Amino acid sequence: MHVESFSVGPLGCNCSIVADLEARRAVVIDPGGDYDLVKGRLDALDVKVDVIVHTHTHIDHVGCTADLQRTSGAPASIHPADRFLYKLLPVQAALTGTWIPKSAEMDDALVDGVTVRAGALELGVLHTPGHTPGSCSFVLASGGRTHVFAGDTLFRDSIGRTDLWGGDHDALLRSIHSKLLTLPDDAVVVAGHGPSTTIGHERARNPHLRRR
Ligand SMILES: [Zn+2]
Ligand SMILES: [Zn+2]
Repeated sequence: MHVESFSVGPLGCNCSIVADLEARRAVVIDPGGDYDLVKGRLDALDVKVDVIVHTHTHIDHVGCTADLQRTSGAPASIHPADRFLYKLLPVQAALTGTWIPKSAEMDDALVDGVTVRAGALELGVLHTPGHTPGSCSFVLASGGRTHVFAGDTLFRDSIGRTDLWGGDHDALLRSIHSKLLTLPDDAVVVAGHGPSTTIGHERARNPHLRRR
């Protein structure tokens, strides 16, 4: 299974491509901007996009979803509890000083426990609310390695902010403790921004996650 993540857009959202290179099928996570870069990577891998998924519906994570959907024909999904944030994109654009993304056909397919598939690859969906009500994390277990795409829920040595629409600090901590820290220590965490980390590192070192 092929996994790659790279920074896109003015706010540096990490976009990930997870691909079954044999079947030439891929899932794109958080196409937040820089459509030409995302498309160039997909073309270089020679893969077709089966599904576009979003860890949550902040503007920096959905910036080029419409363009990618137009060229791939793939469904694009969010969690239903983030639907209101998609409607708030003009307000989000004004707040962040960025453009309003073109409108994509978002479905509400991401709910806790479903599996997103492309070729032989399977991404498990965990509903991890807190940063936004519909924040999700995606778990890929393949070849003895686990990757978790945690969006803006968990960062290296930090956690997601909860001062934006629908943010809930207690819910965020519950999500991290019950859904993420229960993953294996060596699980690689791809954060929504910045460097990757591991579950073991965050359990041991993250200053925001100390139990008192
Ligand atoms: Zn966010
Ligand atoms: Zn973000």
